[in-house]
Amino acid sequence: MTSQLSLTRSPRRIVDALRGTGPVFSFEFFPPKSPGEARLLERTITELVDLRPTFVSVTDRAGSAAQGLTREVVARIGAETGLTAMAHLTCRVHSRDEMRAMLADLRDAGVENVLALRGDPPPGGPFVPPVDGFGYADQLVRFIREEGFDFCLGGACYPEGHIECADRAEDIANAKHKVEAGVDFLITQLFHENAYYFDFVARAREAGITVPIIPGVMPVTNLKQIPRFTREWGVTIPTRLLLALERCETDAEVFDVGVRWATTQCRELLARGAPGIHFYTLNRSPATRLVLEAIRTSA
Ligand code: FAD
Repeated sequence: MTSQLSLTRSPRRIVDALRGTGPVFSFEFFPPKSPGEARLLERTITELVDLRPTFVSVTDRAGSAAQGLTREVVARIGAETGLTAMAHLTCRVHSRDEMRAMLADLRDAGVENVLALRGDPPPGGPFVPPVDGFGYADQLVRFIREEGFDFCLGGACYPEGHIECADRAEDIANAKHKVEAGVDFLITQLFHENAYYFDFVARAREAGITVPIIPGVMPVTNLKQIPRFTREWGVTIPTRLLLALERCETDAEVFDVGVRWATTQCRELLARGAPGIHFYTLNRSPATRLVLEAIRTSA
């Protein structure tokens, strides 16, 4: 990672950036599982750092070969680029005692922002809370607050409803529990139809959720991603987008369609009051760079 950021620093706590005047832009990365993935991540961060995101976040891959690497990647990004960084933390494998130790470790490494999550269930099975651990994200949030950790805390939410929750009103009520337990902001699952976001925000406000809700956007960059979006996450691909993708004859055309769609999406989200955009980068820079440059140019 190169340290090219002599530019204005973002606030260290994401909640402070969200109180500012401009939109908040963030990039999500995942920690590498192999030397090849590590090189790709390093290159991507180097390529994206000049876009000066408000913050970057690093996912928790608990249960995989990258388990435990989140803290290291977050601390390294902070130290080497000066960017504000957030660690994701899931309930998947850790007991309360382990969680307490991990939170202390994050704090001691200078991490100020944590996205508190339950984590996905294992393939094909229900989520089983670890022994003496947590079954839902709101329990983790409450634990973090009760233990006196002073992190700026985020949580996840789902404009189309979480895949395990058949009732969207109940899903909103569950998101509200998370906020009541102490999250400062929410980041949404990706979506490709803005109506889901605007409708979700309206319902959340009606339910008394007042924290900022940052929309998560991921440009479609190849057709193989689509079954994962739809089957595993319950994310809809609008017919108009699907038809445009099906007409593509090359991977480059698919990429262009995905970038143009996401650019239009982001412009409308910001024009209609979204507090920023969280980009799911998949550890690659080109699509995020093109979309962010386009929306900044037109702002
Ligand atoms: P929860 O808020 O606990 O919700 C899980 C389900 O339980 C929902 O259906 C909810 O409606 C329901 N529920 C919640 N509380 C209750 C309750 N008290 N009683 C009954 N039902 C309840 N996964 C990773 O493994 N690592 C990551 O780094 C990661 N980062 C993510 C970042 C973002 C922005 C998003 C949107 C998702 C991320 N995920 C990550 C995926 C996430 O872990 C999954 O979507 C997971 O299935 C749900 O996590 P959650 O924190 O929203 O869970």
